[in-house]
Amino acid sequence: MPSIIEVQELTKQYGNFTAVDHISFSVKTGELFGILGPNGAGKTTTLEMIEGLKAMTSGSVMVDGHDVRRETRRVKSLIGVQLQASAFFDGLNLAELLETFAALYGRSIDVMALLESLQLSDKAKNRVKSLSGGQKQRLSIAVALVNDPKVLFLDEPTTGLDPQARRNLWDLIRGIQGRGKTIVLTTHYMEEA
Ligand code: ADP
Repeated sequence: MPSIIEVQELTKQYGNFTAVDHISFSVKTGELFGILGPNGAGKTTTLEMIEGLKAMTSGSVMVDGHDVRRETRRVKSLIGVQLQASAFFDGLNLAELLETFAALYGRSIDVMALLESLQLSDKAKNRVKSLSGGQKQRLSIAVALVNDPKVLFLDEPTTGLDPQARRNLWDLIRGIQGRGKTIVLTTHYMEEA
C-alpha cells in the first residue's frame, strides 16, 4: 500500500519550548493509525500541523501527494477534522446541522445515511445539547465526514467516554476504515493504541 501521509522531521517551537521535536512517520492508505502519548506530549500540535491548521517551525508534511505548507487549501479539501461537539450551534437539530456543514463544502449529502452510519438516525430531530457524551462524539465524527474526506483526523475521540461507549466508538471507527477511509487518531490510552 502506498503512503497517503508522509511526515518528515516535523518540529514545533513555541518560543524556546519545543513541543514537537523532529518526528517522522508515514501512514499507509486505508490504515488506522494511532498516535499515543500522555497529555502535553504534543499530539494535538502534531495533528494541527498535518491538517494545515497550525504553522510548522520546520519539517515537511505531504498529504496524498500535496505539500501541506504550499497547498493548504487542497489538503483541507481532502481531509476531515473532528471538532468539539460543544462548539456546534444549538439552534439546529442534528439533520439541519449536517446539512449546514455540507453546504459549507458546497455538497448535498444523504444526511439520514450519514446519521445511520454513526448510529444517530433516531436523533435526527434532536438538538446537540440533548445528546449523551458518546452521541456528541459520534455527531462530531459525522460532521467530519460531510465532505467525504480521504483522511479522517480524530483527536482523542474516546476521552471521557464510559467503557461501553468507547468500545462502541471503536467499532464505528473500524467501520469507517472498512469503507475505505484512512484514519489518524490520538489517544493517551495504551490499550486503545
Ligand atoms: P497533547 O495534545 O499531547 O496533550 P499539545 O500538542 O496540546 O499536547 O501540547 C504540547 C505542549 O505544547 C504542551 O506542553 C502545551 O502546553 C504546549 N502548547 C500547546 N499549544 C501552545 C501554545 N499555543 N503556546 C505555547 N505552548 C503551547
